[in-house]
Amino acid sequence: MKKIAVLTSGGDAPGMNAAIRAVVRKAKVLNIEVIGIYYGYQGLVEGQMTTLQVGDVGSIIQRGGTKLYSARYPDFKQSDVQDQAIANMREAGIEGLIVIGGDGSYRGAMDLVKKGFPCIGIPATIDNDVPGTQYTIGFDTALNTVIDAVDKIRDTATSHENLFIVEVMGRDAGDLALYAGVAAGAGAVIIPEVDFCIEDVIARIKRGEYRGKMYNIIIVAEGVMSGTELARLLKENAGITTRVSVLGHMQRGGSPTGRDRVLASQFGAYAVEALVAGKKGRAIGVRNHEIVDYDLTEAFKKEHATNLALYTLATELSI
Ligand code: ATP
Repeated sequence: MKKIAVLTSGGDAPGMNAAIRAVVRKAKVLNIEVIGIYYGYQGLVEGQMTTLQVGDVGSIIQRGGTKLYSARYPDFKQSDVQDQAIANMREAGIEGLIVIGGDGSYRGAMDLVKKGFPCIGIPATIDNDVPGTQYTIGFDTALNTVIDAVDKIRDTATSHENLFIVEVMGRDAGDLALYAGVAAGAGAVIIPEVDFCIEDVIARIKRGEYRGKMYNIIIVAEGVMSGTELARLLKENAGITTRVSVLGHMQRGGSPTGRDRVLASQFGAYAVEALVAGKKGRAIGVRNHEIVDYDLTEAFKKEHATNLALYTLATELSI
């Protein structure tokens, strides 16, 4: 294999740059040229690509976002559009593609594999919701951003004896809310994977008040409901007044943590090795501290499973 390509697709995540860097540098070690595709699948179809030299990925390991830009491009579901992408790559002499993104991006990659073009997926999303890997690139950074924000909100909550609701990202996956809830000591965590019960949340708040707790922090994943909606329910059902903080897009940005940088570096290098070994239609992941590859379709079949034992722990520790 002499030439491969790399693109970033879907929502950006801190650590994508570190993964791009690892792909380029590992490929260099193996004497392979790397083409960077701009704007995800859209750029692939439009032929927006450039050769990435070792120096081109210098000083990006510490930067959030993605040097190659990302895009959502629903047209990529069309077979003729995918054919165009493959034709562009073949014309440029590209023999394999590394896709850095979430499970949506993996579907695009799998379609290309079915048409005979080798692709490898690297999981990058702050939601940590790619089945088959315990962690995705960007999750740890987003988690630390949320913890930092909740710690700051707690300063105000304790000073004014307020009850705060913090709304965090996570449409279908509650990992960010759950891990942040444990790490920041939230009084309650509300995630999509566990049935919501307003009576239970009220009981937890009341129990805290009963033992003298004058402030509280509840973390809610946006996929269950908005912070404002939860505030309304607490007011209507129990007369409890809350303040709401919506963390929003700040959760997606920032310099990647050490953990994300290491993971991204490992994933990027492993993906190049996998392509060189003739693998295709594989996703890179981490299981029990080991970097592994598995069938891309595994990421579609199974539902993302959150750590329910951790949820139990969160409820136990916030009595
Ligand atoms: P995140 O969930 O973190 O935003 P993602 O990779 O799941 O990341 P999506 O927007 O679902 O993000 O997908 C990114 C891109 O992948 C889409 O805009 C589209 O170009 C391509 N894609 C998604 N689903 C498919 C599919 N079924 N077939 C072909 N291409 C797809």
